[in-house]
Amino acid sequence: MAYKTINPYNNELVKSYPDATSEEIEQALSTGDALYKKWRNEPVASRSETLHKIADLLRKNEDELAKIATIDMGKLISESKGEVELCAMIADYYADNGADLLKPTPITSRNTGDAEVVKEATGVLMMVEPWNFPYYQIMRVFAPNFMVGNPMILKHASNTPGSAEAFEKIVSEAGAPKGSLTNLFASYDQVSDIIADKRVQGVALTGSKRGGQSVAANAGKNLKKNSMELGGSDAFVVLSDADIDKAVNLAWRVRIYNAGQVCTSAKRFIVADNLYDEFLKKLKENFEKLTPGDPMDPNTTIAPMNSKRAKEKLQGQIDKAVEGGAKIYYGDKPIDLPGQFLEPTILTDISKDNPEFYDELFGPVAQVFKVSSDQEAIDLANDSELGLGGTVVSGDPQRGKRVAEKIETGMVFVNSFFISLPELPFGGIKGSGYGREMSELGLMAFVNEKLIVTAQEPDWNNPAGGLAVFK
Ligand code: NAP
Repeated sequence: MAYKTINPYNNELVKSYPDATSEEIEQALSTGDALYKKWRNEPVASRSETLHKIADLLRKNEDELAKIATIDMGKLISESKGEVELCAMIADYYADNGADLLKPTPITSRNTGDAEVVKEATGVLMMVEPWNFPYYQIMRVFAPNFMVGNPMILKHASNTPGSAEAFEKIVSEAGAPKGSLTNLFASYDQVSDIIADKRVQGVALTGSKRGGQSVAANAGKNLKKNSMELGGSDAFVVLSDADIDKAVNLAWRVRIYNAGQVCTSAKRFIVADNLYDEFLKKLKENFEKLTPGDPMDPNTTIAPMNSKRAKEKLQGQIDKAVEGGAKIYYGDKPIDLPGQFLEPTILTDISKDNPEFYDELFGPVAQVFKVSSDQEAIDLANDSELGLGGTVVSGDPQRGKRVAEKIETGMVFVNSFFISLPELPFGGIKGSGYGREMSELGLMAFVNEKLIVTAQEPDWNNPAGGLAVFK
C-alpha cells in the first residue's frame, strides 16, 4: 500500500490505504464520461449552487479538515485553517463568476452572419497534485472545471491520502453528481493508463520537475492538453532604498510559512549591498525566535517538514552547498524532537559554481546574496532555470515596479507578500511549467474555445472565399 498518512510530528503511521484497482479506474472513467455528456446539456449556471454549497461545507468543517491536513503533512494548524478558507473563497469565486466568464464572445467579422466563440467542456481530466497544500491544490483545478463541466479524476500525493478522501467527501456531501471528482489511490503506471484513455481530454499536474517531465511526456505522447505547475526558486529583491525593517518583516515570514515548502516561497534573497549586513542580522534574529513543536499547538511557530524523505533531501542539499563553498550564517543544527524538523537556516556566499546554485531548496532555508545595483539584482534573479514568482521591496513602488517588469517569471509582487487569490492568475514560465490556474485564465485551461458562424446563406461576393468561383 503506497498511500499512507505518517504524522511528520511524531512519525506515527496513522493509516494505510489500499491501492486503486482496475475496476475502480474503469468505473471512474465511465462515470466521468457519462457525467461529461450529461453536463453538456445543462447550463453552466446550474452548477453554481452546488459549488457554493461546497464552500459552505468547507467553512462548516474547517476544524476537522484542518486537523486532517496537519496530521497528513505537518503544517501549523492555523495555516491549515487558512488553507480551508482559501479553498472556500475559490469555490465561491467560480460559483459567482463562472457562468458569466463562460458566456460566448462575439467576434466582429467581415464574414457574413454572426461569429462567436463559445466555451465548451472537453471531457474528463486527470489531475495530479502535491502534498504541500493538500486541499488548495485540488481546488485550483476542481472549482473552475466543475463550472466548465469537465469531470475530474484525482491522483493526490501518496503522503496526503487523508486530505484527498476528505475533499472528495465534501464534494459528494454538497450534492455534486458522482464522477464530479473521483479520488483514486493510483500508481504512476495507472496514471499513465488513465492519461492514454480516449475518454480523458486533459491533464493538470502540480509538482516537481521530475513528476512534471514524466506526466507531460505521457500527455504529449497521447496528444492530451496539459498544464504544468512546477517548482520555483523565487527571488526576493531588496532594493537600496528599501525600509529594512519592512523588508525583513516580510522576508522571514514568507520563507517560514508552511515550513518553507511553498513553490512561490521567496528562496533567494537578493539584497542591495548597503542593506546586506543588517538584513542578515535581522533575518537571523527572527529565525532565532521561532519555536518548533506540535503543529496542533497554537504556540508552535515552525512546523516539521512533510516527510522524512523531504527533510533528508533538503539536509543533503545544505551539506552539498556547504561543501561547494557556501557559509552557514545561521541554523543547520539538529532539533531535539522526534519529528521531521529542520532548523531554519541562512546560507550565504553561494557562488555560481556551487552545485546548489540552481536548485530549489524546498524547506526553511534562505539563500542570501549581495548585489551592488538594480541591474545586478535583476540579472541574478533571472539567472535561474525556474521562473515562477518573485518579490521586489523598494521605498519607491514605481522603482520596484520597473524592476518587477524585468524579472522573468509568471508573477511578481512589489512591496507585498505573495498571495494567492481566486481572481489572480497563478503559474510560471521556463522550468516552472506552463499554463495558468485560477482567475479567468485558469477557467479556460481545459475549455474548447469553439468558433461558430451562423449565417442565412454564404457571402458569394466575398473576395477571400475561393469557393465563390463555383457559384
Ligand atoms: P512530485 O514528487 O512531483 O509529486 C507531485 C505529485 O505528482 C504527487 O501526486 C506525485 O505522486 C505525483 N507524481 C510524481 N511523479 C509522477 C509520475 N511519474 N506519474 C504520475 N504521478 C507522479 O512533487 P513534490 O516534490 O512532492 O512536490 C513539491 C514540488 O512541487 C516542488 O518542486 C514545488 O515547488 C512544486 N509545487 C509547485 C506548485 C505550483 O503551483 N507551481 C505548487 C506547489 C508545489 P507520489 O506522491 O505518489 O509520488
